Amino acid sequence: MDIKFAHFSLKKSHRQWLLAAVVALLGVILWQTAHWSRQIALENLQQQNQHQLRLFVANLQGQLEKYEFLPELLSTNSLLLNFLQYPNDVNSINALNRYLETINKVANASDTYLMNAEGWTIAASNWLSERPFIGRNFSYRPYFQQAMEGKLGRYFALGSTSNRRGYYFAYPVRDKEKIQGAVVMKIELLGFEESWRSLKEEFAVTDPDGVIFISTNDTWRYKSLYPLDDTVIARIHDSQRYWKAEIGTLAITPKDRISEQAQVVNLGDPRHSDHLMLVQEMPEAGWRVHTFASLDAVNSQVLKSLLFATILYIAVVLLVLYLYQRIRRIKERERFELRAKRVLERRVGERTADLTAANTRLLQEIEEHRRTDETLRQTQDELIQAAKMAALGQMSSGINHELNQPLAAIRSYADNARALLTRDRQEEASWNLQQIAELTERMAKISSQLKVFSRKTSGQIVSVSLQAVIDNALKIVGPQLKETETVLRRVLPEEEIYVMSDMVQLEQVLVNLITNAVHAVEQQAERCIQIAVSTRQGKAIIEILDNGPGIAKVNLGRIFDPFFTTKSEDRGLGLGLSISYRIVEMMHGSLTAANREQGGAVFTLQLDLASVAQLRSGQELAK
Ligand code: ADP
Repeated sequence: MDIKFAHFSLKKSHRQWLLAAVVALLGVILWQTAHWSRQIALENLQQQNQHQLRLFVANLQGQLEKYEFLPELLSTNSLLLNFLQYPNDVNSINALNRYLETINKVANASDTYLMNAEGWTIAASNWLSERPFIGRNFSYRPYFQQAMEGKLGRYFALGSTSNRRGYYFAYPVRDKEKIQGAVVMKIELLGFEESWRSLKEEFAVTDPDGVIFISTNDTWRYKSLYPLDDTVIARIHDSQRYWKAEIGTLAITPKDRISEQAQVVNLGDPRHSDHLMLVQEMPEAGWRVHTFASLDAVNSQVLKSLLFATILYIAVVLLVLYLYQRIRRIKERERFELRAKRVLERRVGERTADLTAANTRLLQEIEEHRRTDETLRQTQDELIQAAKMAALGQMSSGINHELNQPLAAIRSYADNARALLTRDRQEEASWNLQQIAELTERMAKISSQLKVFSRKTSGQIVSVSLQAVIDNALKIVGPQLKETETVLRRVLPEEEIYVMSDMVQLEQVLVNLITNAVHAVEQQAERCIQIAVSTRQGKAIIEILDNGPGIAKVNLGRIFDPFFTTKSEDRGLGLGLSISYRIVEMMHGSLTAANREQGGAVFTLQLDLASVAQLRSGQELAK
């Protein structure tokens, strides 16, 4: 019998769902990984750039602060106030110009000049240059206006004369409280840009309108970060801050806003266009300083993380698949073992049921056998009794003869005695009476034999005198022998022989065998039967021989079968030998039949000899 396995696999639709789930999960994981790794990389980049930006701003601020206090210092020089009060003094103008030139040189500034209250430049460090500032009016510049308001003026602009970018510091020159004019120092920030250009980040400084005026990228200059309104552009033009320069637009596109100072922007450049923009205010100057760092490093970091996450995910999926397969195999094996166990249990159950049934059947059969055996025994006992009665029947004629004869004799003796007594012949009468007495004794003997024959067996196997049993049997068959004129010879040992048997039954067996022998020799001219007894090896051997026709060979194996007979219905039932055989068997002896060489049959009966002890107990029992 083969055991079928439950096919443990996923359906196609389930597989598709699982695949979709795995892919979806991969998508979610990758998206999340990209998000996190980008954030981390951005944070790192931001930290780096923040540092750069701080340095940049500090540098810029340092540059400006270096000059910030100089105009104020200059304003305290009485030379300047004197000249503002008396501008027509030629000696003092030269002296002042020279003074300003010296200061300018020492301070390494671009230009240093003095303006009167109307905004006219009246003395300048570049008094000897081709295009000196003297005689020019800069009253429109905000730094002048701030100074005239009593404050430190600051301004960034493209020089209208020099066409160079400069940062202007202006400070009022006072006569007591009254402001007479302003002293201005212009510095250039050109070298500053140069020194920062080597870094990979781009730097840009914007004015309050968002226009870049300092940048490490030359193309960005005078461009606004975001598109500006026309009015704003017009205002810028009006202010002449960038003189006649065209105000363009960088037009950056803001993307992810990270914090107040940090934002991802797109610079419009197709390659590497995404940048991290960091902003720091410079409130005193009114500037905003920006750094732009390319996101290439961030992107490559994200890519690396994605690659790593994908590999890790695939490894986990493979591991899960492997474990799933293993568990599946273990489960399959468990299922197989369970099935095999169940099959085995079922088989054992079936076999056990078969065995139980067979056992029950066997017990029933044994019980039936026992009952049959009992019935058989009963039947046999009854048959033995029946056979006895049959033999009795057969003997009845002989018995009749045996009894009638003495009865008739008794009668005649009685008649004779009475007649003799009437004649007073007492002696003769006494002789007749004596004959009567002898005859009645003989009749009593016959009657006692019949009593023995009819009595039921005791069933006890005891020590019995063989000679006595043979005598009893012959008494029963005696009339038969006499009637058929059969000669019976007895060859018996002189000493008494005791065998273990049931006396009545042994008599019955002998009666049967002798009766059969009588029947066998019936047709012979000389009818002869012999009973021979001998002992050998603890056994008594009793042979009943006859000179009849013997037993036909074909019948030899059947004569002990019940109801086997070759005789007519009224003479034999075919039970004698079978009953005899069984009786002898019960006595632990044996009964066999054979044909004699000289003709006729011989039946041999073997019985255990009784030991001395048995003999004694047998005698006790007989009492
Ligand atoms: P029954 O005498 O009623 O036939 P038995 O069982 O005593 O039944 O004998 C069975 C048969 O055995 C007899 O019918 C006879 O054929 C055969 N048989 C028995 N004794 C002798 C014998 N002494 N000689 C020949 N045949 C015998």
